[in-house]
Amino acid sequence: MALSLTVLGSSSATPTASRYPSSFLLRSNKQKDYFLIDCGEGTQILLRRVGIRMQQISRIFISHLHGDHFFGLIGFLFTQSLLGRKEELHIYAHKPLQKIIRMQLKMDKSKMTYPIFFHPINARKKKEMPLYENDKISVTTFPLLHSIPTNGFLFREKGHSRLVSKEFIAQYRPTVKQILGIKEGNDFRTQNGVLLSNKSITELSSDLKTFAYCSDTAYTETILPFIHGVNLLYHEATFMQDMLSVAEEKYHSTAMQAATIAKLAQVDKLLIGHYSARYKDISPLLQEAQDVFPNTLAAFEGATFQI
Ligand SMILES: [Zn+2]
Ligand SMILES: [Zn+2]
Repeated sequence: MALSLTVLGSSSATPTASRYPSSFLLRSNKQKDYFLIDCGEGTQILLRRVGIRMQQISRIFISHLHGDHFFGLIGFLFTQSLLGRKEELHIYAHKPLQKIIRMQLKMDKSKMTYPIFFHPINARKKKEMPLYENDKISVTTFPLLHSIPTNGFLFREKGHSRLVSKEFIAQYRPTVKQILGIKEGNDFRTQNGVLLSNKSITELSSDLKTFAYCSDTAYTETILPFIHGVNLLYHEATFMQDMLSVAEEKYHSTAMQAATIAKLAQVDKLLIGHYSARYKDISPLLQEAQDVFPNTLAAFEGATFQI
């Protein structure tokens, strides 16, 4: 496992008895801190339910300022302070959100226990733009087609991980601690005192994963260059194809359209979500998408998908 995505909210604007508005948690086994993507109402409850320590979330990416994608944010920020958080928190979103957060924080006289950094997303740029990067992962953003400025996100793992040679393990039987050290680049000294270089006992793995997040958006092929060939594409599927005219009017997509984008972009896997509250059962949406793109999965609350 390299990257994994946990669904905290799979509903569109209106929550249902079992579904919450958009929210996702992206985790990497290469770094301790987690990323939150959108923060709909219900995010905190689902984080509790799946047993995530909220302090481990270091960065929050908000796709746009429709309430079903950020109404959970202020509650999340206050809870962090109540828990005595000290770690920095970084928020990436369209500029007006900074004003909204400031105003909400001002109403409560208590001082936050941790620093919040706001990073505005420039929605006017019609190309892929960098947002964040460290030596393990990069995050970029690209425009979607929705009724207000909306951005998708692309998460790409970086660098090379090292795989320890099976022959070496069979011959020298290193401990788990030694294997972890070798993966980090350590050499290995045999019992006879011979030093084996890291290079001679490992091989490079190019198994770096990519994840693209597209919610909310009407059907648009302009996103294809940004999401081409990703390991996992999350694409909204608010309606079924028989509601196409409503989908177009509201700048949303149907399950068939999400699958068509996945097929054209030649991605490995498609994950659909942002379902309209009209669908009690989402299996017909999944079936509609799978008819076009068989490797489609359906998001549901609490589910974790390996990328
Ligand atoms: Zn939405
Ligand atoms: Zn929206």
